[in-house]
Amino acid sequence: MKLFSSLLDLIFPPHCEACRSLGPEAFCADCAQNITYLSPSAFSHSVGEYAGPLKKAIHRFKFKGKTRLADPLGVLMVKYLSRNLDMNLIDLIVPVPLHEKRMKERGFNQAELLSLVLTKYYDVPTVSGTLFRVKHTHPQFDLPRAERFKNIRGAFEVKGGQILQDKNILLLDDILTTGSTVGECTRVLKSAGARAVHILTLSRVVV
Ligand SMILES: [Zn+2]
Repeated sequence: MKLFSSLLDLIFPPHCEACRSLGPEAFCADCAQNITYLSPSAFSHSVGEYAGPLKKAIHRFKFKGKTRLADPLGVLMVKYLSRNLDMNLIDLIVPVPLHEKRMKERGFNQAELLSLVLTKYYDVPTVSGTLFRVKHTHPQFDLPRAERFKNIRGAFEVKGGQILQDKNILLLDDILTTGSTVGECTRVLKSAGARAVHILTLSRVVV
């Protein structure tokens, strides 16, 4: 196994996941320094600004299918959480689901892969078969703010909500823009019986 991984290192030498310069770290020193970390807001916990090296890495993770990036990106979330949120208060992690059609296109749900990293680290279960996306909406980024909220209404449903009853939930997504998506998920989870919903995103669009 060791020989195999050193062979792999020869063919695909380890490199920075943002700028691709060679080196053993997921983010090279320059890129690590250029991530803008954020503090908690009243609405959400977001690890860093959706810009620079973090944006590049998320892009490769999500759109280029580099699923191995879930680990280093998950580690950024763990570092953030260790400073800002007591994970002992959390019963379940719920990743924002993709619509079935999108899931088929991409082959994985990036939010779920990140949740599973936290599950491994904190031993808090990821529940991904309960909240469903029932409406395949337009990509939200080309819609004006007010339209996004209207567009997302009714996009999610809960099936088998017993597991959520009276639970403190960490709702997880990769990017927060206006908050319309996580806001709607929160509404649906609470009306299905969740006690509290904390929002955690890997990044936030800062305008
Ligand atoms: Zn770099």
